[in-house]
Amino acid sequence: MQSDQLKKTITQFLRSAQSAGVTGTSPAKSIEIPNTELESHSNNQESGSDISHAAMAESTGKTNEHDMGKETLTIVEQEVSQCTLCNELVANRTQTVFGVGNPNADLVFFGEAPGRDEDKQGIPFVGRAGQLLTKIIEAMGMQRDDVYILNTVKCRPPDNRNPSPEEQEHCKGFLNRQLALIKPKYICCLGSVPSKNLLETKETIGNLRGVLHDVNGWKVLCTYHPAYLLRNPSAKQLVWDDVQILMEDMGLPVSKT
Ligand code: URA
Repeated sequence: MQSDQLKKTITQFLRSAQSAGVTGTSPAKSIEIPNTELESHSNNQESGSDISHAAMAESTGKTNEHDMGKETLTIVEQEVSQCTLCNELVANRTQTVFGVGNPNADLVFFGEAPGRDEDKQGIPFVGRAGQLLTKIIEAMGMQRDDVYILNTVKCRPPDNRNPSPEEQEHCKGFLNRQLALIKPKYICCLGSVPSKNLLETKETIGNLRGVLHDVNGWKVLCTYHPAYLLRNPSAKQLVWDDVQILMEDMGLPVSKT
């Protein structure tokens, strides 16, 4: 379904929900939808069009794709490409950087934000840090195509600054929708920004790394960002120690040498 049609369907749905007596200060927050995938894998953000067809189906009883419109990564990607929520990022971006890889991946790598190379190419982790990430994936015995790679925000922050909490919040609905569609078993947070974003904590990466966290049913590993490793090569061993925890749990062969 085109995004205009999708918006129209959502608007119609919200209107009919309101006329059926569902009330509240904001339409997105006024509807309580129990036991849906959306609920277990999202924080009910108002941004990023976080109302899925699954939520609509739960409330309306409609499951026919013709009636509902089927949520796909392509639909989310199209909406991302038209997003204008963050003025500074929109003014400076060449294009949005949605995500790349296997849409059914068991493992998602979760980075911070696109840099200059990613903004140019529209693909996450293609610069120097990305090449190091590719080496890590290959050292795990996989290829980039086996995993999915995405970021907390889909537009490059100017001068490679960290994405602000507000910018991350704007993009959270898109992230939740991506993860709800991919349904990974494991998420590897690369660095402090995505770790704090996913775990909703202020803990340091040093305290978060080294164990698997359970977040919404995902097994989450936090480790240092590849860009940090480029500046501090001695931390590579710590990242490899972390990655081996992931590999062991995933049943991938771990060489102890
Ligand atoms: N660093 C990130 O966190 N993400 C990218 O896509 C590239 C570099």
